[in-house]
Amino acid sequence: MAPDLNVFVSEERIERDESGPLSGRTVAVKDNISTAGVPTTCGSAMLADYVPPYDATAVERVTAAGGTIVGKTNMDEFGMGTTTETSAFGPTRNPVAPDRVPGGSSGGSAAAVAAGEADVALGSDTGGSIRCPAAFCGVVGIKPTYGLVSRYGLVAYANSLEQIGPFASTVEEAALLLDVIAGPDERDGTTRHDATEGQADAHPAEEADYVGAADGNGEGLTVGVPTELVDGAEDGVVEQFEAARSDLEAAGADVREISLPSVEYGVEAYYVIAMSEASSNLARYDGVRYGPSVDVEAGNWNDVFSDVRREGFGDEVKRRILMGTYALSAGYHDKYYRQAQHAREWVKRDFDEAFADVDVIASPTMPTTPFELGETLDDPLKMYLADANTIPANLANLPAISVPAGTANDLPVGVQFVGPAFGEETIIRAASIIED
Ligand code: GLN
Repeated sequence: MAPDLNVFVSEERIERDESGPLSGRTVAVKDNISTAGVPTTCGSAMLADYVPPYDATAVERVTAAGGTIVGKTNMDEFGMGTTTETSAFGPTRNPVAPDRVPGGSSGGSAAAVAAGEADVALGSDTGGSIRCPAAFCGVVGIKPTYGLVSRYGLVAYANSLEQIGPFASTVEEAALLLDVIAGPDERDGTTRHDATEGQADAHPAEEADYVGAADGNGEGLTVGVPTELVDGAEDGVVEQFEAARSDLEAAGADVREISLPSVEYGVEAYYVIAMSEASSNLARYDGVRYGPSVDVEAGNWNDVFSDVRREGFGDEVKRRILMGTYALSAGYHDKYYRQAQHAREWVKRDFDEAFADVDVIASPTMPTTPFELGETLDDPLKMYLADANTIPANLANLPAISVPAGTANDLPVGVQFVGPAFGEETIIRAASIIED
């Protein structure tokens, strides 16, 4: 018998009597996206019994569009990981190669689509958590521009970096789900679109046609390939990337080498910022408002607080809270957090300069094929470095897509396209050219 992939944390169906563009489609939802009346655990023992009283905006839009939610998917605890092994509910296996990880942190959502357990899925991407599992499981995943999709109801890990986004088995289906969830939301101020000179006060999603953009047309498209993001990849991955590059050229695109020197500091900057934000966001899990209820009379507040957190959080989450707190502490703030913010600015500037010359930037999504289960668990640095190609788009708040591009040793390879802010149509078009 095939091994249990452990895709879902819970399998309650959520269905409304609505019809729309998602009618007849099943949708899996990452377990850090709130669902009214249905547990939302974030893959953590801390929230094992937590049932949100409200729906995330993205969930509301999915059901209003006729989609049927079939379950909440497994994930790295609070989104912290690249393999879906740090979940308190055990690892998810890769449907393509069950002795390997599905990628993370949205590994359950990617695996649900790859295994046919759902037509499409929602994940969240803070530093690659949609694109990495999409690449590792051989499906399509989109990390939208910051501010395109409401984060209302997404449990925060590092809120200046993350977005909810779609998974699907084709670019067109992913674009369809993006169309449903994108748009302004008065409950999330970051989805407001400030009218700049000569621009109507419309949100970019209101004018866009994401599905129509998946037309496979490469004429007039200029694609930049940053050598920094290709050099570090495994041979088998580079081979598939070069094949994708030929497909782009055959479709009429102009592909040229570019340089993004700042990405060398991306991983360091990302982990300082993400851990700092996490240390602040996760302070709310104190056993009073969230977490296993404790007898507050039993001891002093500090003891109760640390007992709950010792029991409720796994090792990776503890490591990040400790490092984030350290990076923000008086005396070290300038040395780490401020430096990281400078690096983030530099990454943004590098992308701005690149997009003056090219429409879209292409690279392998992940430098490797999927790890074996357990391979990176005792080596956090190896896991963090695997995010090198996905992190820059989050630091710069840009849209990015991962699309399947063949296999290396029978394991899926993904190609990533990054676009300018709100350039979702361009990355969708580019991905549709090389789609198998
Ligand atoms: N692997 C990255 C991290 O652990 C990205 C996770 C994510 O995007 N949620 O922070």
